[in-house]
Amino acid sequence: MSKKGLILIVSGPSGCGKGTVLHEVLGSREDVYYSISATTRAPRPGEENGVHYHFITKEDFEKLIAEDAMLEHAEYCGNYYGTPKQPILDHYAAGDVVILEIEVQGAKQVMEKLPQAVSLFIAPPDLEVLEHRLRKRGTEEEETIQKRLAQAKEELTHLSDYDYVIVNAALEDAVDDLQAILRAERCRTEKCCK
Ligand code: 5GP
Repeated sequence: MSKKGLILIVSGPSGCGKGTVLHEVLGSREDVYYSISATTRAPRPGEENGVHYHFITKEDFEKLIAEDAMLEHAEYCGNYYGTPKQPILDHYAAGDVVILEIEVQGAKQVMEKLPQAVSLFIAPPDLEVLEHRLRKRGTEEEETIQKRLAQAKEELTHLSDYDYVIVNAALEDAVDDLQAILRAERCRTEKCCK
């Protein structure tokens, strides 16, 4: 029996550690497709075009929206972010686990367009921990850190829109939780349709 695809939306405030949790889980699975978003923000040191993001201009981003090539898109802290649609549909049809690491506005659009998608919110234990993690990362200016913290408070109010929540206090536990969610969702029958 071939496996049905699974679309997993993963949101969580900047600095909550969702990238690290996802990386740990993706590394050990072969049936996972990690969506590569398009963004108008500048690459951080070490980020590669076509690997971490498709780094594109605002004009090109708006062209993709006009061509209906985006599954969802949103503005976050002054930049556009969006999910190219076709790779998602192709990998879903092929039976893969498709991971969309996106913020809350985009997540809402995907929940509406693809109600079969499973959604997960990764939360920090508290806002102090989040601030500490954002500063430790050392990739953002003070103004950006403040914007991202304000955004985090807003994002946390959307937690109850999601199917699952993982509080990322200890990485190992968060990874275990995500593995468990994936394992259970991969065993789901057709009976339950949200
Ligand atoms: P960062 O600039 O830290 O890479 O990402 C900022 C926020 O944008 C994060 O919450 C991240 O999950 C979100 N994000 C990344 N790609 C997309 C996307 O394609 N669509 C939306 N809506 N959000 C995204």
